[in-house]
Amino acid sequence: MKKILSGFMVFITFAACGCAQNPPVFDGARAFAILEKQCEFGARVPGTPAHQKCRDYLITALRGYADQVTTQEFLHTFGKPPQSARATNIIANFQPARRDRVLLCAHWDCRHICDEDPDPKKRTLPVMGANDGASGVAVLLEIARLLKARPPRQGVDIVLFDAEDQGMQGDDRSYARGSQYFARHVEPTYHPRYGILLDMIGDKDLLIYQEAFSVQMARPIVDKVWAAAQRLGISEFVPQVGYAVFDDHVPLLERGIACIDVIDFDYPHWHTSHDTPDKCSAASLEKVGRVVVEVLYNP
Ligand SMILES: [Zn+2]
Repeated sequence: MKKILSGFMVFITFAACGCAQNPPVFDGARAFAILEKQCEFGARVPGTPAHQKCRDYLITALRGYADQVTTQEFLHTFGKPPQSARATNIIANFQPARRDRVLLCAHWDCRHICDEDPDPKKRTLPVMGANDGASGVAVLLEIARLLKARPPRQGVDIVLFDAEDQGMQGDDRSYARGSQYFARHVEPTYHPRYGILLDMIGDKDLLIYQEAFSVQMARPIVDKVWAAAQRLGISEFVPQVGYAVFDDHVPLLERGIACIDVIDFDYPHWHTSHDTPDKCSAASLEKVGRVVVEVLYNP
């Protein structure tokens, strides 16, 4: 009798210590509501009221979860003819005193033109960016909620980059301006263990190949993330190399941060007027969210 009781006590102690074996539950429906919320503001193109409103919403939401939220403001010039607007990177730190850190990031701006639209008349319209912008942010905001509810062993930094998507074709450096700015201004002592960038991960028809720059420069992190997907039986993460994409992770890789890009680049509505919430799904956001949570909580 005594022996059984002490075994039971050990179990109770273990269960209460917080070193949980099961990661917290990522809620795809909540994430999808955050995707829709961003789109309700309109296309979040720098310099527009929609951009300003969404910026305020994201800062307020993150302040509810993170220990510290700061911004990086810079002037961003883009388009033809060139226009200038204020751009804002939003940085949320969880457990900022911890040295052992992980970086999670996404871009929150929308492209100013639908230059890939099949209808030439629509090519001057801005992109709604349900997938290209809002999807990554939605997953990270839902993860922020989980980070507050159950802090993992390591500190986490969520960075939402602005000015990713206003570039000109053929000029890579005109893209990813927010992450270029971040890479130039981040403290030299900042060395997260790894980074995960989420971009275009909301497509209903989800299929995520490994991104080529990530494989080339941060292979162990790619393997870690795809292994987590495999453990969860999420077969939409295909363990084969797909496209090479100049995205926000490249300036970070150049700065020595092992950040990979999780991106589903086979999206027929990319940079068109059809990148709207109905092309995305809660199920896809949930799959990606569960993989990131698995990586964070079962390192
Ligand atoms: Zn884009």
